[in-house]
Amino acid sequence: MPENVMLRMAAPIIHHRNPEFMEILTRVHEDLKYLFRTTQPVVVLSCSGTGGMEATISSLFKQGDKVITVNAGKFGERWGELVRIFTGNCIEEKIAWGSAIQPERLAELLKEHPDAKGVCLTHSETSTGTAADIQTLSALIREQSDALVLVDGITAVGAHEFHFDDWGVDICITGSQKGLMMPPGLALVAVSERAQDIIKGQSMTQYYLSLKHALKAHAKDDTPFTPAVSLVIGLDEALQMIKAEGIEHIWKRHESLADACRQGCHALGMKLFSNSPSFAVTPVWLPEGVKWSAFNKALKNSNGITVAAGQDDYKDKIFRISHLGFYDELDMLTVIGGIERALKEINFPFEIGAGVSAVQKAFLGN
Ligand SMILES: *Cc1c(COP(=O)(O)O)cnc(C)c1O
Repeated sequence: MPENVMLRMAAPIIHHRNPEFMEILTRVHEDLKYLFRTTQPVVVLSCSGTGGMEATISSLFKQGDKVITVNAGKFGERWGELVRIFTGNCIEEKIAWGSAIQPERLAELLKEHPDAKGVCLTHSETSTGTAADIQTLSALIREQSDALVLVDGITAVGAHEFHFDDWGVDICITGSQKGLMMPPGLALVAVSERAQDIIKGQSMTQYYLSLKHALKAHAKDDTPFTPAVSLVIGLDEALQMIKAEGIEHIWKRHESLADACRQGCHALGMKLFSNSPSFAVTPVWLPEGVKWSAFNKALKNSNGITVAAGQDDYKDKIFRISHLGFYDELDMLTVIGGIERALKEINFPFEIGAGVSAVQKAFLGN
């Protein structure tokens, strides 16, 4: 986390009806539109990202509504779990881990299910480090059906190019602890005009995680319940940093960090996992003979570097390197340098400096 965000959050707390806080919330609402590239409301919910997903499904759909979900990993699977609870009518498309859904396949699904009320997608599937082409998929859905386009953008917003309005997206969700350089605790949900109309006509199945309540309060730059005041204040600071850097620059920075990370891993003889890599997280196959527990211990204990394990079937097979949010070029040199030291410690053969050199070259050229 950036120091200035931490310091803003450490200041004495103010009351949420205090004019000073109202001013902050109004500015946050405005700046979130900049982040999502939209003129539509982006509501701030006091919950983690999954709460934003739950609020979306429960506020837009009713029992029996057919919703298509794409499950290409843990988070796409979550869309399906939510739809099954709230509508009981989920058409789940499973995709192999490390791949993204292809437009041709989605076109077939839309043809098979013309009565689908929504399509749930994941822009950057964090469990597999894989990005989907939301621009193309969204255009396809708009062209072929009346289904709403719902995007889990939790590790994509602030990493991948994204245009809520221009791409015709109806819902996009992110969470404070991902691209926003914040602690966990806030979900941000952008809602299109079309989605707002549907939400208004829906009877409520949720009280607290309700987009209907949240949108009504948002119209007065308010929240329906006491917001997580300190997190909103931190978000105000983070959004000022994002605006100062510029969203296009942030997208480019993530693309460049991801590219350098992949080159560093490749130069160390490690195989990359995804065939459509995310700019937020790089998944890498553990080299043959390398045990996750020994590698992780060497990386964490001796070098102070944390990477994530694989999930489910890939638990001891892959690991994931983050470069989302408050990361720069020197951070990537540190991570790859740390991986070299960990590999050395566990006696995996490689040419010392090869990874670091590849990262330097990716940033500085040959
Ligand atoms: C982290 C994450 C979530 C879940 O968010 P929580 O904040 O843990 O509830 C959902 N989708 C994606 C793509 C994520 O990376």
